[in-house]
Amino acid sequence: MSELLTRLVPPAMANARRDAKTYAARMAADPATVPGESFGPADWPHYEEAERKERFGIDDATLAPYLELSNVIERGVFYAAGRLYGICFHERPDLAAHMYAPDVRVWEVRDGEGDDAPVLGLFIGDYYAREGKHGGAWMDSLVEQSHLTGRKPVVINCLNLTKPEAGPTLLSWDNVITAFHEFGHALHGLFADTRWPSASGTNVPRDVVEFPSQVNEKWALHPQVIASYARHVDTGAPLPEGLAERLRSQGAFGQGYATTEYLGAAVLDQAWHTLQPQEVPADVTAVEGFEHTALADVGIDDALVPPRYRSTYFAHVFGGGYGAAYYAYIWSEVMDADTTEWFRTDGEGARDGDLGLNREAGERFRREFLSRGDSRDPLVSYCAYRGRDPRIEPLLRRRGLN
Ligand SMILES: [Zn+2]
Repeated sequence: MSELLTRLVPPAMANARRDAKTYAARMAADPATVPGESFGPADWPHYEEAERKERFGIDDATLAPYLELSNVIERGVFYAAGRLYGICFHERPDLAAHMYAPDVRVWEVRDGEGDDAPVLGLFIGDYYAREGKHGGAWMDSLVEQSHLTGRKPVVINCLNLTKPEAGPTLLSWDNVITAFHEFGHALHGLFADTRWPSASGTNVPRDVVEFPSQVNEKWALHPQVIASYARHVDTGAPLPEGLAERLRSQGAFGQGYATTEYLGAAVLDQAWHTLQPQEVPADVTAVEGFEHTALADVGIDDALVPPRYRSTYFAHVFGGGYGAAYYAYIWSEVMDADTTEWFRTDGEGARDGDLGLNREAGERFRREFLSRGDSRDPLVSYCAYRGRDPRIEPLLRRRGLN
């Protein structure tokens, strides 16, 4: 795993240095800058945001009327899953009436079209914030699929949207991506086809668990999917193509810094966990030097790009179940980028330029990867549909680091 981290550092750092020059020039030209002050990490967010606005600027207010909650879920998230995996959704208000809070929605997920299609499981959507509800967004398996117990899966997606006093619930672009992301976890649970509940669905190693959800995010921007759900809430007009294009084009922006600060944290995590007992800094004042050396060793200039978390407040390092596994996010993303490229390539996942939105590609991904959970080594499952081990190059291309 260290090899993956060290291979990513040079292109990410080079990209961050290039961006730093751009922002330093912006800062020098900014009348608000105190003469003689030079660009540093603390100035980064401000000038990056200015650059982003200028190059890709779409404000949430412009997008919101095209992103109504039910449309996004039923004509976006469900629609993409239907096209890929042949499943359909029947809302069950009779079951929702027994749920723990109003506004929670329940759907029966069927494997195929028509009334005689077998029931795969239940999907619960709990989208609104309310008092006492945990913050953030997550997926949970309330019932794990298992041939041993004979149980079908029941999975839930929770978001924390603010319910408007009246009228439709309009989303931000981030909310849309989150809805697709969490549903990727839900599919992992719903498609589970294993004997042991402990190996079912999302019960996979941490460095694999984010992979299906990251892949599912990509369908939000597929031309046919976005045309299906992104409709003006009052007029039904489609999202102007220029806006969709802008959303697509901002993928690699700012990734040099984002990747480097992430890698910095992952490197520190690894560094702490590979120390021999006698090497552990004895005094808290030695921590900074230890960090600097660990980062410099792999080529990270922490004066320009500090790690996302310093050891002294990096909860992931020692708690929260992440010990030495903070790299898991980037490993999931390596597989995600490699898989997204597979879906999009004609002759692999794609047919006639459909970017992989077809039953054949979906079926293969579902059968060989999603349905297996941890019942066989996820890397074996990966190779079974991809035809080889994951490669790092698609991630470098996506993040503009090649
Ligand atoms: Zn996730």
